[in-house]
Amino acid sequence: MQVTTAHVLRFIEYAAESIKNQRDYLTQLDAAIGDADHGANLDRGFSAVLTKLPGLGDKDIGTILKTVGTTLVSTVGGASGPLYGTAFLRAGTVTSSKFELSPTEAIAMLEVALDGIQARGKARRGEKTMIDAIAPGIDALKLAHAAGDDFITALRKGVTATEEGMRATIDLLATKGRASYLGERSIGHQDPGATSAYLLAQALLRAVEM
Ligand code: ADP
Ligand code: MG
Repeated sequence: MQVTTAHVLRFIEYAAESIKNQRDYLTQLDAAIGDADHGANLDRGFSAVLTKLPGLGDKDIGTILKTVGTTLVSTVGGASGPLYGTAFLRAGTVTSSKFELSPTEAIAMLEVALDGIQARGKARRGEKTMIDAIAPGIDALKLAHAAGDDFITALRKGVTATEEGMRATIDLLATKGRASYLGERSIGHQDPGATSAYLLAQALLRAVEM
């Protein structure tokens, strides 16, 4: 299968919907180890993104993703805004003028997005951030794709690994972001950003499954 502009637009709609539905949950997670604004931050950003969608129907994937990125950077606030914003901006750069992506191109795009988050936030795996959900997800997706799985099957495995990565943040000590101020007291709580990353991964799977 090819990933089309229609898939990408649907992904953004589903992501916005899921963030809105889980807004209070994300905020509750952030209340435990941060400043209780992650749900509100992302809902503000994705609500702003939704208002841009009507103008993007006939645009290429790069333009769509770059619009999402600039909107998130300017509206989210908090650490997660520039991080997710950079991910979408970089993903938009490698998909510039494309109206569809092969599975190989889509996977490369996700890797570039992760690289953007790491370049911007300087966090590595194991520091209790969104990276601990996203990186194992992309690993599993790549592995399944290399082993010959079709894109949707591979993406399902990626989303499962993302969920496992998210749950594994519970036991991690935070050494980046606001949660790191808590030191040992950050242990025992699931990372809010890893949780929103899982919601985005689920939204992507839902969008391409249709
Ligand atoms: P803030 O911490 O500024 O209030 P948010 O609450 O919106 O911002 O987002 C917090 C989430 O951002 C964390 O749960 C974590 O996953 C993610 N995060 C924070 N710092 C980093 C970083 N340096 N690299 C990757 N992710 C980070
Ligand atoms: Mg916060």
